[in-house]
Amino acid sequence: MKTITKLNSQETLLKYGISPSIHRMTIMNYMLQHRTHPTADEIYSHLHGDIPTLSKTTIYNTLKLLVAKGAIQEITIDEKNTRYDAEIEPHSHFKCNVCGHIYDVPSPKIGGITDKSIYKISEVQVYYRGICTICRSLLMH
Ligand SMILES: [Zn+2]
Ligand SMILES: [Zn+2]
Repeated sequence: MKTITKLNSQETLLKYGISPSIHRMTIMNYMLQHRTHPTADEIYSHLHGDIPTLSKTTIYNTLKLLVAKGAIQEITIDEKNTRYDAEIEPHSHFKCNVCGHIYDVPSPKIGGITDKSIYKISEVQVYYRGICTICRSLLMH
């Protein structure tokens, strides 16, 4: 199982033209396995126990590199922390105001700016905030 996930992260890095060092593979692997939109701090606290040589700076720099190469995307739904997402297909995010969980939701059809527009769109980020179904059912009790 471990070998398979390692291979996946290595393949992902190579696909985006990133040379796969152990630290990069570890972080990419974490991103592929945790679709929770983690912050750099969350990644650090999960990994530094297993890999003491992995510093916060390495994590920040690696995440920056992965974003620059297009292997992951940066999301800014949380005004305090930058979050990272291994899902790079266009999608939107819903943040629950109660539990803080960030869910992937399909992108809405955006009106107004189209291909015919003078603007060439490289990125669309749509954020929703509210109460998720789990928290809603808990609140109803
Ligand atoms: Zn919730
Ligand atoms: Zn996402």
